[in-house]
Amino acid sequence: MQNDKPLPEIDPINSQFFKGLSEDKLLIQKCIKCGNTQFYPKAICVKCYSVDLEWVKSSGEGKVYSFTEINRVIMNSKEFEKEVPYVIASVELKEGIRLYSRILSENGKNVKIGDPVRVVFRTVSEEIGLPEFKLL
Ligand SMILES: [Zn+2]
Repeated sequence: MQNDKPLPEIDPINSQFFKGLSEDKLLIQKCIKCGNTQFYPKAICVKCYSVDLEWVKSSGEGKVYSFTEINRVIMNSKEFEKEVPYVIASVELKEGIRLYSRILSENGKNVKIGDPVRVVFRTVSEEIGLPEFKLL
C-alpha cells in the first residue's frame, strides 16, 4: 500500500467511490428515479436532478475510447516521471460512462482505440483505491 504520488481529495460525495476501489469494487452512481448512470460522483442526477442516487457495482469492463502516451512529466510529482512512458485513456465502461484512467501495457505500444479492457485495483490506503485498466 505504498504511495508517493498525490492522492485525490476525498469529500462526502466521492468517498464511497474511492472506498469501493480500496475493496476491489468499481462503484458508479445510478439514479433511483430515472435510472441514469453517471461518473464522476455528484450530489444530484445530471439528467433529472433527483438527489436519490445509489451506488451500483460496475462490470469493470469496457473499451478504450481514446488515449495518449505520456512521455514527459512537467510540474508534477517526480514519482510519475519514474514511470514514463505510460498510457492514460478515456475508458468507456459497458454501463455507458467514461472515466480517465491508466492503461497497463508495455510502453503503450499495443494500445488501440476500441481495445477491450478490464479494471484492476490499486489500493493506496484503507480509504482510497485507484482504478487502472489492463488490456484483455
Ligand atoms: Zn435521474
